[in-house]
Amino acid sequence: MARSQLTARSPDSDVKRPHLPSVDAVLRDDSVALLVQKFGRVRTVDAIRQVIGIARDDRCSLSIDDAVKSVASMLEEANASKLKTVFNLTGTVLHTNLGRAQLAEEAIEAAVEAMRHAVALEFDLGGGKRGERDDVVRELLCQLTGAEDATLVNNNAAAVLIGLNTLAADRGSIVSRGELIEIGGAFRMPDIMARAGTKLVEVGTTNRTHLRDYANAINSETGLILKVHTSNYRVEGFTKAVPTNELAELARQNDIPLLDDLGSGTLVDLSIYGLPKEPTVADAIATGVDLVTFSGDKLLGGPQAGFIVGRKDLIAKINQNPMKRALRVDKIRLAAIEATLRLYLNPDTLAERLPTLRALSRPVEEIENLATLLAPKVGNILSDGFSVDVTNCASQVGSGAVPLETMPSKGLAIRPVNSSSGGEIDALSLAFRALPMPVIGRIADQAFILDLRCLENESAFLANLEFLQLGGQNSA
Ligand SMILES: *Cc1c(COP(=O)(O)O)cnc(C)c1O
Repeated sequence: MARSQLTARSPDSDVKRPHLPSVDAVLRDDSVALLVQKFGRVRTVDAIRQVIGIARDDRCSLSIDDAVKSVASMLEEANASKLKTVFNLTGTVLHTNLGRAQLAEEAIEAAVEAMRHAVALEFDLGGGKRGERDDVVRELLCQLTGAEDATLVNNNAAAVLIGLNTLAADRGSIVSRGELIEIGGAFRMPDIMARAGTKLVEVGTTNRTHLRDYANAINSETGLILKVHTSNYRVEGFTKAVPTNELAELARQNDIPLLDDLGSGTLVDLSIYGLPKEPTVADAIATGVDLVTFSGDKLLGGPQAGFIVGRKDLIAKINQNPMKRALRVDKIRLAAIEATLRLYLNPDTLAERLPTLRALSRPVEEIENLATLLAPKVGNILSDGFSVDVTNCASQVGSGAVPLETMPSKGLAIRPVNSSSGGEIDALSLAFRALPMPVIGRIADQAFILDLRCLENESAFLANLEFLQLGGQNSA
């Protein structure tokens, strides 16, 4: 309960008993009827009691009008969504803490339709019998990756978990010491392997692993060979990893499946768009990997999901694992995934339709024009206390994809004119986060930096800034 929601008053020091309305009197007010309709009688009465209680504690008189206003704002605030939409101006396009990929309009429409209606999710409309939910996207995934078969689960962590559990429970999984990664959010490869019930068989060293290390570790207990794309870091210098094609050959000779956790994975060669190269799923399949796992909401640009594509017999085993039922995706996401994948069928329009690729491939000149346009306008809104300059930025893909590469970008650097103490910049960043649609930037070089790569709706951005409250800084 926030006292700030009460209209500001000073205590009536000369009055022993402040004038307070009764709960009933407030409840009888015409506009409270609307609140009761919207929030229910119980919650409304509770808010009225709280408002009157605060006034009593503060020894302040309270008019019915003021009480009603306070009750309304208390109820509205408590009712506001906790999942706020924000402007992601961090420069990290796929920001895990900000929900990763923003979906294409086609995917949003498909998801909304699926929410509104019954859908033929596990229903074969031709035969009128039960069907399989994966059928909705199986063909598309095979077409886009060159794989024989495909299945999908809740996210890539789940894809790795069910893959390991299905193929190597109670058996060994051979993995290079250089690939025992932590992704963050408690996803650590050794822990996932333990929970999947497979024995971790580490080979090689942190910086160098050879083909013979894998070969020497293979025995009758081996369940699979695991390759992990070390997506979020790189070991440089005296290093060696075994090329996937050599590992695939070894796996084939020994009749052991090779699972490649690609992490982000991508369905298109990003270098076409002037972006750093990231291995494509089709490349991995063509190299002879038996199963590839990858995320739906990283570079692919769809909703959260984990895909497993590859050999038909292995996918069939995964689908028979009871875990599949616990990890499956719902109709809403399935609809969005299907629509997202369909965009890949037309590579010519992909960068325009898919927000992730649109942001990543946005020409720096365009971002600079936007920065030049916005700098004076934002300066006006902030008034005299701050300088707003166009600045160079380095955007990142995020979510562990191509971690060391950055893309040149442009943004706004906002600095307090009179002082550049950390405190004032922190306060500035807090004020931006307190906006109706919070603006998330970052602090660097003693400035609050807004990378404009991901800003598409500048008028909504400016309108939102009108609500900026910079406690007393302007008068400094
Ligand atoms: C991101 C990532 C994961 C986890 O994927 P989620 O879709 O976030 O569950 C697993 N492995 C690698 C290599 C990754 O980069």
